[in-house]
Amino acid sequence: MGAHTDKFKVIIAGGGPNGLTAAHALHQAGIDFVVLEKRANVVLDEGCSMVLGPANLRVMHQLGLYHRIKPISAVIGRSRNYLRTGRKYQDTTAPKLIKKNHGSGLIAFHRAHLVQALYDSLPEDAKERYHLSKSVSDITTDDTGVTVTCSDGTSYAGSMVLGVDGVHSTTRRLMRKLALAKDPSLAPNWDPERPFPATYRCLWYSFARPADEAPGLACATTHRDLSSMYITGIERAWVFLYEKMAGGPTTDRHRYSEEDVDRYVALFDDFVLNGTLTVRDTFKLRLTHGMADLQEGIARRWSWGGRIVIAGDAAHKFMPNAGLGFNNGVQDIVALCNLLRGAVVGGVGVPPSAETLDGLFEEYRALRIRALEADARQSAMMGRLHAWPNLLYQFAARYILSNERLVRFHMSKIVPRKTKKALVLNYAPADEPFEGLIPWDNPMPHPCRSRHGG
Ligand SMILES: Cc1cc2nc3c(=O)[nH]c(=O)nc-3n(C[C@H](O)[C@H](O)[C@H](O)COP(=O)(O)OP(=O)(O)OC[C@H]3O[C@@H](n4cnc5c(N)ncnc54)[C@H](O)[C@@H]3O)c2cc1C
Repeated sequence: MGAHTDKFKVIIAGGGPNGLTAAHALHQAGIDFVVLEKRANVVLDEGCSMVLGPANLRVMHQLGLYHRIKPISAVIGRSRNYLRTGRKYQDTTAPKLIKKNHGSGLIAFHRAHLVQALYDSLPEDAKERYHLSKSVSDITTDDTGVTVTCSDGTSYAGSMVLGVDGVHSTTRRLMRKLALAKDPSLAPNWDPERPFPATYRCLWYSFARPADEAPGLACATTHRDLSSMYITGIERAWVFLYEKMAGGPTTDRHRYSEEDVDRYVALFDDFVLNGTLTVRDTFKLRLTHGMADLQEGIARRWSWGGRIVIAGDAAHKFMPNAGLGFNNGVQDIVALCNLLRGAVVGGVGVPPSAETLDGLFEEYRALRIRALEADARQSAMMGRLHAWPNLLYQFAARYILSNERLVRFHMSKIVPRKTKKALVLNYAPADEPFEGLIPWDNPMPHPCRSRHGG
């Protein structure tokens, strides 16, 4: 672990998957922090899965987490596509090419178990800095730093705020307010208060994995405006039911009641999930469920004044079909923490000024934007290839992109070009955990280099 500095402190708004990853990464960087989480519990089990790829499993390994999360995960080894009637039109083991190329496959967790493991593995002194029932409601800045106020009246002083408070980010909203109050002429180039419209919505649920179904299967059932996904994990199976909303994209915020859920699930009653099981068979077995609109977009503004910066779903939101949301959040945290550590711990002994941080935050966004734009396009495309908005998508899904040769070409030639560029924490020495046919562009840092901040 690097040397601690008491002169610089990050206030992390939001203790979800990215807030917890940031807590680990900052702790390992030797940078002081506090996490403010609105919920009363670390984990809210709404029954969703989370798939992580090899690039971010390397980061988990650097943070000493991989050995803790591996036992609760299943490697995705097969994917199948069906029509609503149960007719199979694609069956491939192409996901195994990911392991061949990068040394690990895609692995699926129960999201609540992953979040619990991220929290449980925080060192004790880091856990003490994670505060529950702290809903960030205001931020003020001055020459020396920031003060964050919570809705219970408590406040926290620090050098900067990292907003990882999700798609409806309060940090993003407060940052906008501060920026436009100081300079109203910024308004045309600033994101609207709700920057991410939703075209689709999703109901997800989990149930005990059927005994006759092996872990590591991913199925998609495709249809006009509706689709399902079915994934099997170690203990559970997860189902996702997508619908293109009537009335077009919306930035209205919807909360779904149990009556809404019952009406919605009826639309999918006869959907065949894996060739045999239907939604009707499995929804009644559900252990946990949740429902939300699926916003899509990348915010134009990620920071302001060298004091506030956002990451994860607060900064970008994708359709979940390709499983790239949290994967990109982890890469945000890595890019940001590498730069922060360079400026704070590797600096000249004084905390970085707001001007330095401003430049650093711009650099952070520039480092991330190309990969994010590519993943946003891939996620949007995959969502629409599953729940076809028109005949073009239907044709492409059914007859072109399900071609086995094309799928294998995509997995072995296109995906690796992106995956191999993934970032690692440049200050967290570790052995390389995954080696496949394709070398990583960013190797694990060597212990000697990292001691000098390299
Ligand atoms: C159905 C579905 C399936 C998905 N599957 C995958 C997948 O397989 N792989 C993948 O990589 N991604 C997946 N994602 C995306 C992934 O869930 C998100 O990208 C990820 O949860 C983002 O993490 P986050 O910490 O940025 O935000 P969140 O998970 O939204 O966490 C934000 C946290 O901030 C807290 N908070 C909010 N407001 C405040 C406030 N004012 N003050 C303090 N705290 C606050 C919240 O309580 C919450 O704990 C999926 C998403 C969905 C909807």
